[in-house]
Amino acid sequence: MKIAVFSTKAYDKEYFEKHNQYQFDLSFYKVRLTEETVDFAKGYDAICTFVNDQVNAEVLEKLHSYDIKLVVLRCAGFNNVDLEKAKELDIKVLRVPAYSPHAVAEHAVALIMALNRKIHKAYNRVRELNFSLERLTGFDIYGKTVGVVGTGKIGAIFAKIMKGFGCKIVAFDVHKNEELLKEGVEYLPLEELLSTSDIISLHCPLLPSTHHLINKNTLKLMKKGAMLINTSRGALVNAKHAIKALKSRQLGSLGIDVYEMEEKLFFRDLSEKIVNDDVIARLLSFPNVLITSHQAFFTDEALTEIAKTTMNNIEDFRSGNELINEVKFS
Ligand code: NAD
Repeated sequence: MKIAVFSTKAYDKEYFEKHNQYQFDLSFYKVRLTEETVDFAKGYDAICTFVNDQVNAEVLEKLHSYDIKLVVLRCAGFNNVDLEKAKELDIKVLRVPAYSPHAVAEHAVALIMALNRKIHKAYNRVRELNFSLERLTGFDIYGKTVGVVGTGKIGAIFAKIMKGFGCKIVAFDVHKNEELLKEGVEYLPLEELLSTSDIISLHCPLLPSTHHLINKNTLKLMKKGAMLINTSRGALVNAKHAIKALKSRQLGSLGIDVYEMEEKLFFRDLSEKIVNDDVIARLLSFPNVLITSHQAFFTDEALTEIAKTTMNNIEDFRSGNELINEVKFS
């Protein structure tokens, strides 16, 4: 099968070629999939995409006209795919449901630890022989209340790690996780979670119901000075409202690995460019904001699992096997 891989980085090529056990004919394109670049898919049997590729109705119509019947996502989230259109055109969409939930949960913890103990500032200071401790004060994580929004695979691991620090864990989810309940995690309505947590970490998917879950109203409910961590999807947080809350000191600190407008920024080196996004520029100006560019998943284990599962997904489709990782419109 001939597969066009979009948004390719050197590491995607490395891990895909290493795990190409079914000898698929892979072509790697650096461009992001959009209506402008979809023509690269002509002549292929399937396409492989990542988080910021646009698999919208227009793109799917074009893929259909090229007789492409398979889209394999090398990620878990599928908010960038028009599943209804895919179903209408009989294009199968497969994903990698879990590659390393530990990687993402551990990155959320890394953001908490770095923000709290100001490791990013300390690193720069010491390199300039500034050994002063002024304004590097943090707080003990032990004994704090941590609110976990979304207790699926990643949220559950995150909750257990934070429990290990000696934190009280409260959670909000539309489905309760039995294992966490047994571990003493208390489920609360979202409003109560927000008003009682010292640290809030988002691990729910981006859905119409979770879009801008964190906005001016929910930010007001938080404890003054609380820390907010988002490693899930950018649009869970209204970044402009978060900026206002940071300016008023209502929000104590913010750690994000995802950003609503990340499509035009993340995964590339823009260090010599003028960035037109004033929201990210303002966020970067705060000493109590830490931003990483969607790297929470980025471990050797995760890249291996992504490559292996993607190859198995394509093979399942080719062989007519059950499509265990299909994402369906519902
Ligand atoms: P999961 O499906 O195992 O868990 C998601 C949980 O969210 C489920 O328990 C679900 O019931 C809950 N949920 C659904 N709607 C909700 C709502 N309205 N309010 C609260 N909870 C709700 O998913 P996962 O593997 O734990 O991944 C979570 C998210 O992490 C993904 O959706 C993805 O966006 C993000 N992610 C980010 C990275 C990264 O590199 N930053 C990598 C992988 C996944």
